[in-house]
Amino acid sequence: MALNTGKVLRVNLSSGKISVESVPEKVAADFIGGRGYGIKYLYDEIDPGTDPLGEKNKVLVLAGPLAGTMAQAVSRWVVCTKSPLTGAFARSVCGADFGAWMKFADYEIIIIEGKAAEPSYLHITPDDCEILSAKEIWGKDTKETQAWLNSQHGKNTRTACIGPAGENLVKYAAIVSDRRTAGRCGTGTVLGSKKLKAIAITAQRTLHLADPETYNALAKEQVSIIKNNSGFLNHKEWGTTTTQDVTNAIGIYPVRNFRYGQLVDYKKVVGEEYRKLRVGNMGCYSCLARCGKIHTVTAGVYKGAHSEGPEYESIWAFTGSIESSSIEASIRADQLCDDLGLDTISTGNTIGFAYELYEKGLINKSDTDGLELLYGKHEPMVALVKKIAMREGIGDLLAEGTKRVAAKLDKGSDFYAMQVKGLEIPAYEPRGAKSQGYNYATASIGASHCYGYAVQDIFGAPFPHPTDRFDEGNADIVIFNQNNTATRECGVICAFASGWGWMQLYGNLLAAARGIGDFKDGAYLAKVGDRMFNLERAFNIREGFGRKDDYLPERIRTEPLHTREAKGEGQIVSHNDEFLDKYYSLRGWTKDGIPTAKKLKELGLDFAVKDMKGK
Ligand code: SF4
Repeated sequence: MALNTGKVLRVNLSSGKISVESVPEKVAADFIGGRGYGIKYLYDEIDPGTDPLGEKNKVLVLAGPLAGTMAQAVSRWVVCTKSPLTGAFARSVCGADFGAWMKFADYEIIIIEGKAAEPSYLHITPDDCEILSAKEIWGKDTKETQAWLNSQHGKNTRTACIGPAGENLVKYAAIVSDRRTAGRCGTGTVLGSKKLKAIAITAQRTLHLADPETYNALAKEQVSIIKNNSGFLNHKEWGTTTTQDVTNAIGIYPVRNFRYGQLVDYKKVVGEEYRKLRVGNMGCYSCLARCGKIHTVTAGVYKGAHSEGPEYESIWAFTGSIESSSIEASIRADQLCDDLGLDTISTGNTIGFAYELYEKGLINKSDTDGLELLYGKHEPMVALVKKIAMREGIGDLLAEGTKRVAAKLDKGSDFYAMQVKGLEIPAYEPRGAKSQGYNYATASIGASHCYGYAVQDIFGAPFPHPTDRFDEGNADIVIFNQNNTATRECGVICAFASGWGWMQLYGNLLAAARGIGDFKDGAYLAKVGDRMFNLERAFNIREGFGRKDDYLPERIRTEPLHTREAKGEGQIVSHNDEFLDKYYSLRGWTKDGIPTAKKLKELGLDFAVKDMKGK
């Protein structure tokens, strides 16, 4: 069985140099692929203190070892870089076909270095890579950009691109492929700083597997398991458009910038209501779920608005954050974010924050270009999405994200900035799902819902043990979820698919794809996840992060949650310090949250030990 560690395409936009290399065998054995390769290469190649928007930052685009095969939900892809929003490690995951197309061209990593002198894009085929002028598409939205690239390179082309938000260096700009988004952490901003509008790949379906026969047999088994799984069937039917039914019912749907846990009119935004506007389904390469629900608005001021989505996070971002129950406005705002290239979570959270600043008199109509930011009014929210992307008027300030806006305004506005490490908190109220909250506090990238999703708190999953969602003592659960997610994102397999009953095949699929037998061992895979998370932590420590950055916002720790009718009224997160002591101890870190030499050596990360000295 041939070893297949994956190939790297390295492109330097400053010099124009393009080269191809193979991933070393030890890196493949220790990090598997996807996000694992992302942190290893980033740690090795970015010096501490690198300006995220400077020439020396790099963008790593990573497909997983299983991408482009008939196995289900394994063709997602990851972007890793140093975040311009947070200054920390950035990872953002995306779907559609692009990951499969990377593999068809036989690349698992595309490393973008330097800065182009003028707007450019990459065109990649299995035999070639060119840096071409993007002058004709600079300023275009993501839909127009992808259509133009298809007209240039043919229908067998798939693209990852930025919109005007990335060009304008909005700190939370996204990378968009088809209508899917690598949204979090400002990965699109870094591409914008490099004047790289797009990466287009033209290729035909080809497999690159160490043991195709074994792999295909396993993939067939996976498909037969999934097809009969109730979780799969439910996800196929609804995607995430019913998650708000659950989170509102239990009082963890953040409303009015995280003051309430329930939308008063939440029955107006339940999945059944979105379904009335549904006109189709979309999905990612080789996934029968096609969980992206397409909606079209048929009447009212947003008539004609059309979007793949909003999915749960975006539903919340454009309803709960400003206490609106307009499905139509949420579809329009979601469409704008995809067209303009914005992260919906940071956009919606930042707008909800701006509404509260307005309510508290910290900004007024003269600051907001005349917009009245009153909770319940969705028209200003839709206007703000455009202003942020174009950095127009108040949008120029809000484009910096909540943490920077608060630092600039001062006057106590920091209390209302709902972020961790500079990354805006998503759609789960930390006071009503505390293991989820502590995942926000300790995740490498800041407040990410999917870095260690607390399925135990939110859906009552009983593994590895059940939780009381108000209990602040579940450090073991937070670690379990974070390490598991890391292992899964080596794949790169979809978070939803991990609940479809086939995960016992995951290691065997990896082993057959790579030709590395160790991957069949669950304990080996768990150690890889732990290794990745620790190296990400070491990356952040090297950048000056530490214990001080692992706290939830003051509001969450001091102001009681109002749930309206649900359980959880009056909850606060009150044991952040005790939680960190326990979490660090279980992780094998010091009291200051620094991985110890013993822990790093145990994980084979000896090279990082010197970087932790004196921190
Ligand atoms: S479940 Fe949805 S997001 Fe996941 S791979 Fe399938 S289509 Fe993509």
